[in-house]
Amino acid sequence: MENYQELTLKQKSFFRSGQTKDVAFRIDALTKLKELMSSHEQDMIAALKADLNKPETETKRAEIGLVLGEINFMIENLSAWSTPNEVETPSTHSGATSFIVPEPYGSALVIAPWNYPVQLAVAPLAGAIAAGNCAVLKPSELTPHTSNLLAKMINENFPEEYLRVVEGEVETSTALLKEKFDYIFFTGSTGVGKIVAGAAAKNLTPVTLELGGKSPAIVHEDADLDEAAVRIARGKFANAGQTCVAPDYLLVHRKVKDQLIGKMKEVITNTYGENVSENLDFPHVVSERHFDRLNEFLRNGEVVAGGHSDKSRLFIEPTILDHISWEDPVMQDEIFGPILPVLVYDEIAEAIDAVVERPKPLALYLFSDNEQVQDDVLNTISFGGGAINDTINHMTSHYLPFGGVGNSGMGAYHGKASFDTFSHFKSILKRSNK
Ligand code: NAD
Repeated sequence: MENYQELTLKQKSFFRSGQTKDVAFRIDALTKLKELMSSHEQDMIAALKADLNKPETETKRAEIGLVLGEINFMIENLSAWSTPNEVETPSTHSGATSFIVPEPYGSALVIAPWNYPVQLAVAPLAGAIAAGNCAVLKPSELTPHTSNLLAKMINENFPEEYLRVVEGEVETSTALLKEKFDYIFFTGSTGVGKIVAGAAAKNLTPVTLELGGKSPAIVHEDADLDEAAVRIARGKFANAGQTCVAPDYLLVHRKVKDQLIGKMKEVITNTYGENVSENLDFPHVVSERHFDRLNEFLRNGEVVAGGHSDKSRLFIEPTILDHISWEDPVMQDEIFGPILPVLVYDEIAEAIDAVVERPKPLALYLFSDNEQVQDDVLNTISFGGGAINDTINHMTSHYLPFGGVGNSGMGAYHGKASFDTFSHFKSILKRSNK
């Protein structure tokens, strides 16, 4: 069994030296990380092509661009965020002052998944650095080219007592989780999230869990169907549906269902071509296990768009399934692939009830300009975050903390929320003896 005690002890000792608490040190580290991302752009494009057949434009936008934007935002704001914040003092404590000091936890463990293997590893790592922590990053074994590249980039340019990438499978994760880290940041499935939370509980280590779930796209009868079709199709089929915030299923008003499906079929053709299997840029499914799981869903309901698959290339065509019920296998768990089941409703209350009865989703998308409907949905359904008349773009704003709730996770990051997540806020009352 692997043992990471020596590594964690080295990191704790380096942390105690106080170097990572210096804001200039953190800015230097973030700047170096940024430069590494830029100088390895071509390597990352090649690694993601090999691991997921991810097209260059997607890698540049969703993996590299997004992370560089996050790092730049952190560098710009770090001095302000890390300055102790003076707050009011109650009159019962006269003569005293009060302030809140953000301090790093110590050594943080970041465990990342495979679907955006650069973004979901490096964005939390940047948060850990910004807040002044040391960190160990465990990328996913399912995207080995990318994990290997990340290890090379970090391990050859930072000392291990500060930052370390540890590659490996479940056993490696399990061994790392045995160590007493000061913070654990996990992105992955709800099932593994429970294992991570259990391991963290043994050491009372605080955790952020960025998990998944079934995120609905609700399309009401008044929706602009042209826009809805484009935004839902792009959000769903990007990265072949392997996006944590992708719309998992469509909940559409009965009156507009056929029209919406017709428009989505056009969008799929316009975006990916008449014959998607000939589109060499369409990402593939990450593994045979996931392919087999997804392929079974193609038998659910009625295929009204797509439906083809090719195991030899781990290819599944963007597919829309009509006449689906909540009991179908495709509706039992997060799909995480390019398959969109369609369910209908007649009253918005029905749609709301259906979502509320199930585990809280990571994201929810509502297509409607009706303010009453918007209020009803926002006020009654609990979900991580989402968008009105759009999909997935809420997670690309530095100003919107990103995270789940209930089964879709706990805690949040991005922008200042990343700094906050990796910081403990120490409250101090200072009294004078004069
Ligand atoms: P996963 O849970 O299988 O694996 C995630 C990480 O955990 C990997 O590094 C893996 O090695 C490790 N791991 C796996 N089994 C483990 C175990 N038993 N003990 C300890 N560590 C273990 O998830 P995945 O398949 O890589 O990613 C897909 C899931 O992640 C989906 O559910 C998706 O919704 C979710 N996700 C969430 C977000 C988010 O930001 N909320 C982002 C991307 C993916």
